[in-house]
Amino acid sequence: MKIFACSHCRHTVFFENVQCLNCQKELGYFPERGMLALPQEGLSKCRNYTEHNVCNWLTRQVGDYCRACRLNRTIPDLSLAGNLQRWWRLEMAKKRLVFSLIELQLPLDDLQFDFLVPGAQPVLTGYSNGLITINAGEADDPTREKMRVDMNEPYRTLLGHFRHESAHHYWTVLVKDLPAFRQVFGDERQDYQQCLDRHYREGPLPDWREQGFISAYASMHPWEDWAESWAHYLHMRDTLQTSSEFGLGRLDTQTFDDMIQDWSRLTFALNSINRSMGISDLYPFVLGKPVLEKLRWIHHLLEGHQR
Ligand SMILES: [Zn+2]
Ligand SMILES: [Zn+2]
Ligand SMILES: [Zn+2]
Repeated sequence: MKIFACSHCRHTVFFENVQCLNCQKELGYFPERGMLALPQEGLSKCRNYTEHNVCNWLTRQVGDYCRACRLNRTIPDLSLAGNLQRWWRLEMAKKRLVFSLIELQLPLDDLQFDFLVPGAQPVLTGYSNGLITINAGEADDPTREKMRVDMNEPYRTLLGHFRHESAHHYWTVLVKDLPAFRQVFGDERQDYQQCLDRHYREGPLPDWREQGFISAYASMHPWEDWAESWAHYLHMRDTLQTSSEFGLGRLDTQTFDDMIQDWSRLTFALNSINRSMGISDLYPFVLGKPVLEKLRWIHHLLEGHQR
């Protein structure tokens, strides 16, 4: 993520800010132009900004949705208590994903989101045919943290879910017809439902780390290996961008090996800082050689796409 500054007074502001704390001007984000003090000629607030305050993006058409909110197909029922807050948290995570997708010049046209709150029926986070479904119940920290512990995962966040599910979409856009995929991630033609059933019946492969997977879930099926690796690549890319904006590490134009070198130095520092504060590691992963090769493949794929 970039570090933004208010276009009026240059005071630094977060990506999520709706007001500059220095000059008090109202702010709006417009892709490629950054954080703009309002009003701005030719731009107006997204409808979700005006009506619900769950968005801080701008759009060209008065009364229209911004580029990110336009992707919503279903939002939580706002007449129920707590749902506006859940939706706000989902939007914050989604905006960070969309920021990265725009930077990577990935198409957004055929992507949609359903944010569903579980009621009588459970909601499964997942992807199908251009549609990302997110269980809005995970916007509640205690719920999500309990799931993380129950499923024995080192890391579980809303942003992580968005990044993971986007992987399934961009697999169909960028990868589907590339035979090289199978050499790196395995043969995705094996029956997905069978693999899923086995995963939940028998648990993950006991030696998934040695087998070269980034997470236990990645060992379930080549599609999930791809999705976990893609999400991980986006974590790295975004966090490295943030740190380089603060003068820690190099800026963009770097090779994959440079990136990994910066990444191991940065995450060692960040984990040490967290330990000094008595909190768990910011980056609870170890990258083995096979995982690095998967990440390298994604790096080159995206480089090729941007060219
Ligand atoms: Zn300002
Ligand atoms: Zn919006
Ligand atoms: Zn998945």
